[in-house]
Amino acid sequence: MKGDCIAAISTAPAAGGVAIIRISGKEALAVAGKVFSPSGKKSVSDFAPRYMYSGNINAAGGITDFGLCVYFRAPHSFTGEDVVELHCHGGVELSRAVLKAVIAAGARPAKAGEFTMRAFLNGKISLSAAEGLADMINGKSAAEVRAGSLLYSGRLTDEAKLIQGALTDILAKIGADVDYPEEDIERTELSDIKDALLALKARTERLAATYDGGKKIKNGVSVAICGRPNAGKSSLLNALLGYDRAIVSASAGTTRDVVEGCLELDGIRYNFYDTAGIREQAGEIEQLGIERAKLALKSADVALIVYEGEYGEEERGLERCCLCPVIKVRNKRDLSDKAGGEEDIFISALTGEGVEQLKRMLSAVAMPHGSADEAFIIEERHYEALGRASLALGSAAAATCDFPADIISVDLKEAWDALGEITGETATEEIIDTIFSKFCVGK
Ligand code: GDP
Repeated sequence: MKGDCIAAISTAPAAGGVAIIRISGKEALAVAGKVFSPSGKKSVSDFAPRYMYSGNINAAGGITDFGLCVYFRAPHSFTGEDVVELHCHGGVELSRAVLKAVIAAGARPAKAGEFTMRAFLNGKISLSAAEGLADMINGKSAAEVRAGSLLYSGRLTDEAKLIQGALTDILAKIGADVDYPEEDIERTELSDIKDALLALKARTERLAATYDGGKKIKNGVSVAICGRPNAGKSSLLNALLGYDRAIVSASAGTTRDVVEGCLELDGIRYNFYDTAGIREQAGEIEQLGIERAKLALKSADVALIVYEGEYGEEERGLERCCLCPVIKVRNKRDLSDKAGGEEDIFISALTGEGVEQLKRMLSAVAMPHGSADEAFIIEERHYEALGRASLALGSAAAATCDFPADIISVDLKEAWDALGEITGETATEEIIDTIFSKFCVGK
C-alpha cells in the first residue's frame, strides 16, 4: 500500500499562519487516523466528507499541534482519490514534523506535480487544464495568472474537443463509405466535407492566432530601447521603471552591454532592453555591445527608437534592423519643445514629461487586441499542435478533390491526434512528464 498513498506539504515552505499537509490514495484516511486525534470521542473513520474536524496532530519528534483535518472521499476530490488534508500551524519545522509522521504512518513522499498528475490520470482535469494550473501557480504577471486560469477552466479543452467531435463525425461518414462501398449507404458528398473541413481549419487557425498575444502574456513583451549614444536611452529606461537601473552619463558609449529592466503595465510584463548606442567610431568592447543591440532589436516585440533633434539616417538605419513595430521617441523636450514632425511622441526622460503617455502608447502597440482574456493560447506546445492540426485539415480538404476517402481519413486522424495532444488523449508519456515536472512538490 505504501506506493499508493502519497503525501506532501502543499503550502509554501515559509513561516505562516497555516500549513497544509495533503495525503492522497486509498489509505489516506487510515494514514491520517494514525496522526490525527479528533477532539471529543470521534474517530477519523467517522468523518463526514468535506467537514473540518479539530483535534491534535501528533507530529514526529514528540511534537503535538492543535489543528484541523478534512476528508474528501473519492472521486470527489482534487486527485479523484481519497484525499485528507491536515491543517497545522504554519511553521517550517512543524509542518515537516507532521509530514514525517504521515510518512511513518504509511504514506510515501509525493513527487513534484504528482497530485495533479493523478488528477489528470483519473480524468478529473484535462492536460491543458493542468498546464493552466501550472501557469496560475508560476505566473509572473496578473495577465499570465488570468490566462492560466482561463486554461484551467477548460475553455481550450472544450474548443479542441468540439473540433475533434466534428472530425469524428466526418471520419464516421467517410469510414462508412470506405468499409461498405457496395452497400446501400448514402454516399457522402465530398464537396460538403470539403466546406466543413475548411471551416474547421479556419476555426483552428483563429484559435492559434491568439498565441500572438498569448506568448507576450506568458513571456512578457520585449521592448528594445535603441538610438544614438547620448540620445537618452538609459535615462528613458530609468524613467519608465521609476528607479535608477541604468547608468546615465554625458559621455557617449557608457552602455556597452544590454541592460534589462522589467515593468508591469495593465497586468502584462514588459521586459525593457537598454542597448548600446549605435555609432561608427566605437572601440572593440563597445562594438560587441552594438552587435548585441542589433540582436536585441531583431528579437524585440516593440522597439523604441530614441533620438534628439532630427530623426536622421542613423535612426532610419535602426528602423530597417527591426522586425517589429517601432515607436519614434523624440527626447529632451525640456531643452526645446519645437515639434519636428517625424516623432510619434515627444518626451523628456529627465523631467518625466510624456513618459506615462509613452507607456499607454506602448501598451496599445504591443497588445493591439487589448484584453488579455481573449488570448487563451499561451503555451507554445498548444500553438504547435494547432498548427499541425490546421495543416492536416488543409491537406484533407485538398484531398477531397482527387483522392479516395481512405486517404482523406489519414489526414483527418492526424488532425484529431494533434488536437488530442492538447486535451491529453494522444499526448506521449514524455509530454506528460514535462508538463508535470513544472509543478512543485505538494501540487
Ligand atoms: P544614452 O547614451 O542614450 O543612454 O543617454 P543617457 O541616458 O546616458 O543620457 C545622456 C545625457 O543626456 C545625460 O547627461 C542625461 O542626463 C541627458 N539626458 C537624457 N534625457 C534627457 C532629457 O530629457 N533632457 C535633458 N535635458 N537631458 C537629458
